[in-house]
Amino acid sequence: MRKPIVAGNWKMNLLIDDAVGLVNALKPALKNVTTVDMVVCPTFPALYPVGRALEGSPICLGAQNSYVKPEGAYTGETSPQMLLDVSCTWTIVGHSERRKYFQESDAFLNEKLRFALDAGLNVMFCIGETLEEREAGNMKAVLERQVSKGLVGLEAPDFDKLTVAYEPVWAIGTGVTATPEQAGEAHVFVRGLIAKQFGDALAQGLRIQYGGSVKSGNAAELMAQPDVDGALVGGAALKADEFIAIVKAAL
Ligand code: PEP
Repeated sequence: MRKPIVAGNWKMNLLIDDAVGLVNALKPALKNVTTVDMVVCPTFPALYPVGRALEGSPICLGAQNSYVKPEGAYTGETSPQMLLDVSCTWTIVGHSERRKYFQESDAFLNEKLRFALDAGLNVMFCIGETLEEREAGNMKAVLERQVSKGLVGLEAPDFDKLTVAYEPVWAIGTGVTATPEQAGEAHVFVRGLIAKQFGDALAQGLRIQYGGSVKSGNAAELMAQPDVDGALVGGAALKADEFIAIVKAAL
């Protein structure tokens, strides 16, 4: 049985006071939740204060990005070791915005993923096709490339710390959500790819969360799909009542 995961990607939003205010609103409502893994991913400047505010809460702290070196002359970057130092236990790797705006390649994302896992972080590894790719009938080929190149070199123990997020790019921040059937079908396909690459046992144990305009109104039907093991939430994660309702839909 895969434990559901609901994560909030706050993207480049919220100054420190608002970020801490948001987790202070989440904490009392979610304090007794033990059957869903919950993660919030604030901006880098807010990680430390949000981490302090989360002390004693079951909600985990995640970063939106991490680099492939532990320290050194890499201006502007932050290592997994530095994230662990501020009590982060998760990071996102491969978000479509990183792929698109920062030209992060499959090979570089694989390096990031492996480095973060080796450092001891849990990783949400994002994949997903654009609208053009879907309309051209290339969805499966894109997912196949992102999975095979992105996960190459992983070993069985890495799967304990890995979650894959299927996020169709056309559904991110657009208000257009994949239907439960579209999400379910893509998740089955991705699990099949992982089974081919790593064997059925690891594929069956792996969580695949859906992301793309998830909100309280559609979370339950998306997560009712047998292969949808949770949600990665952007816009709706900035509102306490929405995030709480999405976690409750996963219970
Ligand atoms: C995301 O940022 O990963 C995301 C899915 O955003 P939204 O929920 O706003 O579509």
